Amino acid sequence: MKKTFSEEIIGWYLENKRDLPWRNITDPYRIWVSEVILQQTRVAQGYDYYLRFIEKFPTVSDLAAAAEDEVLKCWQGLGYYSRARNMHAAAKSMNGVFPTTYEDVLALKGVGDYTAAAICSFAYKMPYPAIDGNVYRVLSRCFGIDDPIDTAAGKRIFKELSQELIDINQPDIYNQGMMEFGALHCTPKSPHCSICPFSSHCIALDEGTIDLLPVKKSRVKVRNRYFNYFYIEIDKKFTFLNKRIDKDIWMNLYEFPLIETKKNNSLQEIVTNVSWKEWFEGISNVNIAPVVENIKHVLSHQIIHTNFYKVTLPHAEDTLSRFLLVNLDDLEKYPVSRLMHEFIDKFLE
Ligand code: SF4
Repeated sequence: MKKTFSEEIIGWYLENKRDLPWRNITDPYRIWVSEVILQQTRVAQGYDYYLRFIEKFPTVSDLAAAAEDEVLKCWQGLGYYSRARNMHAAAKSMNGVFPTTYEDVLALKGVGDYTAAAICSFAYKMPYPAIDGNVYRVLSRCFGIDDPIDTAAGKRIFKELSQELIDINQPDIYNQGMMEFGALHCTPKSPHCSICPFSSHCIALDEGTIDLLPVKKSRVKVRNRYFNYFYIEIDKKFTFLNKRIDKDIWMNLYEFPLIETKKNNSLQEIVTNVSWKEWFEGISNVNIAPVVENIKHVLSHQIIHTNFYKVTLPHAEDTLSRFLLVNLDDLEKYPVSRLMHEFIDKFLE
């Protein structure tokens, strides 16, 4: 008898799955942590973060009780920091008890359809299909679906198909199998079609459209930004940090005083900037020198062109009192972006 789609996927998964620390567990908190870490993050990178996070915050109550700076510090380098902020806020809203219905899981801050389905199917064996980028790719190719995956109509088509395909008796294994199949076998480039269980009926293989699927309607435009950071060293002992509080990248992380410009300015241009004047004009003995220039820090939708300058001052001047005066020995305690971390690591250690 011909195997069904879900039987093929489950059979493939049981033979090929990777042994990962968040597999074969039913604790919804740990599943949630792993799923949030793995959004926008490769397994190889997320692996250690997951272990560290669970060690530091073993239960949802531990996470809820932590300070946000601690949570962000643990997340440092993973990017997309709103994931950590949302998770922390959601943990606080739970009163120590992880929700047990799909609707309540979906209502948690930062949890969307995908994460709610993953948590509910893995932890509670509820038959909700978890549809991530891997699943979109497998289904679009296997079933030859060219509806865009980033439109409501397209998403509905994939959701309906997934609901038909899921094995309702083992939704956890089916969902994990689909994701793993996409991650390891039906990969974006060079999928393993010659040894694929679906090769005899995969529409994309038959029609030669593998490279065209899945279809996305919008391509997000990349924005160029120009950051000029000032590492201000006071008496070789202190420096200043600023907490980013605006709704922007790296919200609630710390950084050196920053002047953002519309283009890559020279130092001569920077010292005419209004912020520079507010901070330093009138102060004698301001010593400034570039440490590293034109670093290109690439995020998903932004390229941050960055210059780091070192400013040496004998005293912490009043004009800088808006910033946090930090002992250089304590610098490591503050959660910072990867860009800041790399600078500190390379030039200040
Ligand atoms: S035949 Fe190739 S494109 Fe089709 S599902 Fe298998 S690996 Fe993916």
